[in-house]
Amino acid sequence: MSGWNLREGNLTQLGVSDDEYWSLFNYVFSDACKKTNTYKFGLIKSICDQIYDVHDSGTILFLSYEKIFSKFAENYWNLVNKYKLKQMSYNGKSEYSKIEVIIKSAVENYEIPENVGFQSLSSSNRNYITKNVTMECKKYVVGALYNDFEGKLYAFSLKGNGIFLSADSYRFISKYKMEIEKLNYYSWARFLEKVNDDDALIRLLEKLDMATPQRKDLSMYRDILFNEFQESNCFYCGKKLDKTMHVDHFIPWTFVKNDNLWNFVLACPKCNLKKSGNLVSHDYIVKIENRNSVVVDSRSFSPIVQVEFDGYYDGLLDRMWNYAKMSGIRERNCV
Ligand SMILES: [Zn+2]
Repeated sequence: MSGWNLREGNLTQLGVSDDEYWSLFNYVFSDACKKTNTYKFGLIKSICDQIYDVHDSGTILFLSYEKIFSKFAENYWNLVNKYKLKQMSYNGKSEYSKIEVIIKSAVENYEIPENVGFQSLSSSNRNYITKNVTMECKKYVVGALYNDFEGKLYAFSLKGNGIFLSADSYRFISKYKMEIEKLNYYSWARFLEKVNDDDALIRLLEKLDMATPQRKDLSMYRDILFNEFQESNCFYCGKKLDKTMHVDHFIPWTFVKNDNLWNFVLACPKCNLKKSGNLVSHDYIVKIENRNSVVVDSRSFSPIVQVEFDGYYDGLLDRMWNYAKMSGIRERNCV
């Protein structure tokens, strides 16, 4: 059975080793694993990009469809609309997958100009696309990928609100997210090379990477950090901040590929630019974790702060720092 028509599935095995997970991932990336479109690559990327957003209640590790597919929709928007990359092999009836049809019809119906990035769309257009992409993909890819992983990666129900990772799969993906991402890009690129013209394939890996662009507008986070958390000094050098302050991903964007309030600090431009995509010394972990503990323990912060801290727990940044370091991200003293 291909699995695409599965409505639900439980975790079939606990205590899955890293070797077993590598074997399963390598199978999914191989040609032996059937793919008529690129949805499976899109879902893997979306889970990896949001692995540190998983809600950990102590016994359950939950990632909502809403989070998974909003990232998924953004990715496909940029791949299809901005980079003109076809995502399906001709099936005898059409050369476009349903997602491409959803995106192309949104562009036509709402008269959206060419090359507009997903984040520049109006929120109603973004919601429309995300909603339709979610409906389509939930149905066709969640069960299929579940089946390819023999039920060892996550449990799911299409009637529910998301997927449930096992403790082992959560640990595995957190640890090897950059390695998985690279293998995923390689297989995705091989698929795209078969179905696209040479023109669209120029700088293909860069396009796959840039389909989840780094946000330029982090002003919402700046306001919360400055006004609500009352951070008026550079997190690194302690200098008084002025209007030129930067919002810094403490664990670099290159590793997390996501925006989380608990991973943001305010920095002076000098420290931020010097730090760039690197890690800072492990000594700063205590400082940021203390800041975050105050937020978690206090009930006085705004609802948006509570939502942003949903997946956060004490010790998470320490683990991320170690995994980022293991993935080859260097330490740099920015002060
Ligand atoms: Zn500074």
